[in-house]
Amino acid sequence: MTTHGPDAEVPPPPPAAHRAPEPAGGGEPACMLHLVCPDCGRLADEHGARSCSRCGAPLPDCGP
Ligand SMILES: [Zn+2]
Repeated sequence: MTTHGPDAEVPPPPPAAHRAPEPAGGGEPACMLHLVCPDCGRLADEHGARSCSRCGAPLPDCGP
C-alpha cells in the first residue's frame, strides 16, 4: 500500500467553527425584554410565550 496515493477521492475535512454559537438560554435579563407585553407591561409566565396571556397582544421577537 502506497503512502502517497491520489487523495482526490478523499472528501475535505468539515470547516471548523462553521456553526454559529448558540446563546446560553436560561437566565438572561436582556432576553426578558421580549417577554414583557408592550401593551400592558405584563411579564409573560412562560419563557417561550409569543403572546401576552393577559391581553393577548403579540410579544416582540427577541431573535433576528
Ligand atoms: Zn398584555
